[in-house]
Amino acid sequence: MHNIDIDLVEMTLDVMKYAIHRITATSLELGQPKKEEELRKLVGETITSQGIGGEKAFQLFKDVLVKATVPIDHPRHLAFVSAAPTRASIMFDLVTSASSIHGAYWMEGAGGIFCENEAMKWLVSLTRLPEGAFGVFTSGGTAANLSAMVAARENWRKDPKNIGVRGLIITSIGAHSSIKAMAKVIDADILLVESENRLTGSDLKNTIDSISSDIRKRLFAVVGTGGTTNAGIIDDLQGIARICQKENLWFHVDAAYGGGALAADSVRHLFKGIEMADSITIDPHKWLFSPYDCGAVIYKNPDKAKEAHAQEGSYLDIFKDEGAIGFNPSDYQIQLTRRVRGLPLWFSLAMHGTDKYKKAVEQGIALAQIAGKLIAEASYVELVREPSLSCVLFRRLGWKPKDYYNWTYKNHKSGFALVTPTKWKNGNIKETIARFCFINPDTTKDDISAILKSMK
Ligand SMILES: *Cc1c(COP(=O)(O)O)cnc(C)c1O
Repeated sequence: MHNIDIDLVEMTLDVMKYAIHRITATSLELGQPKKEEELRKLVGETITSQGIGGEKAFQLFKDVLVKATVPIDHPRHLAFVSAAPTRASIMFDLVTSASSIHGAYWMEGAGGIFCENEAMKWLVSLTRLPEGAFGVFTSGGTAANLSAMVAARENWRKDPKNIGVRGLIITSIGAHSSIKAMAKVIDADILLVESENRLTGSDLKNTIDSISSDIRKRLFAVVGTGGTTNAGIIDDLQGIARICQKENLWFHVDAAYGGGALAADSVRHLFKGIEMADSITIDPHKWLFSPYDCGAVIYKNPDKAKEAHAQEGSYLDIFKDEGAIGFNPSDYQIQLTRRVRGLPLWFSLAMHGTDKYKKAVEQGIALAQIAGKLIAEASYVELVREPSLSCVLFRRLGWKPKDYYNWTYKNHKSGFALVTPTKWKNGNIKETIARFCFINPDTTKDDISAILKSMK
């Protein structure tokens, strides 16, 4: 397995050929899932004592298995939050793997971590956090949120009276599901604020004023959202930050999806107050065109994160020797061994420059505006709310939930588009509506028109 022979050389060429073909493809097939039994029938047993051979395994992958996946970078994939990694970043993902770099410690990964940190400096600069703020790349927004929540909670527990006290976090109903899920992981409670639109400073203040002093004692953090995943809504970050400062609460901003828009001059003002956060989550694998998986957590005061996350182990001590002294990514988030997952972003940023990133993010926002206009002009659809960031919520007049499901299914089945419905709170009911989320700068106005026509 570790020898070099002619089979390996041939396999390397095959793999490279496939990768070049995929990276340079301009028209993608919209694959779809198949039942597990069906896939098993098509590929048979792949793990055997003697192996089936690389050629056969790769053939099965190309002919059957990859076709049972949905390429997230398809320009008519407007469901969930799609992705559109740059070709340079995907190529460099191959290089990152080939280079076998341990990304936990400077001692082993210095050159790679240096690159990650260069990219991170740009991300931090977008937030306008004060001097000293810094961050680290994580497996995604979920891990970033968890890392920040642990840092917040440990910081709070430096006060001995909070040791052993179950923590409480305030956030809004628009917060991402991972906030609730990660609160379970750290065994904290969540208090959800019902706000009409965005969570404001006064919503937060009213909530804090309304809880009993016993509950107030358990409150250690507030999570604002910098672009809700469903609707692109940005909370009143400045108002929330001021209350957090007054109340001595850790302020985390979850901008996993919306964080890319910090690069866009046209909407940057909406994020005012983010520079007052204690921690921020941004997913480069969403709106900064990195391949999966690449999230990031940024701290105003990284030392506080280090106090919470640095792992001590006697076998790790040698890594902390003189020449090895530098930034250890493992000290600032939950993972120890890690790939240098910020490397693809670094290479693409270095190759293209930050201006092209700005432009590509602005394109997503422009597409949402174009879609909004097309929807306003058509008689059979209407906007549920004005487009926000790159999210557009709209309804097809007269449609019931099952009409939306059938429409999604039909468009996906025919290989045309993947656009999924979502739910929106309309008074007391949760209405099923349609949603676009634009990430891919290759999506065109014609694509949007054609998708809207498919609802006629
Ligand atoms: C996507 C998203 C997350 C979760 O990020 P993953 O990278 O999927 O773990 C968290 N918060 C928000 C606002 C998101 O949009």
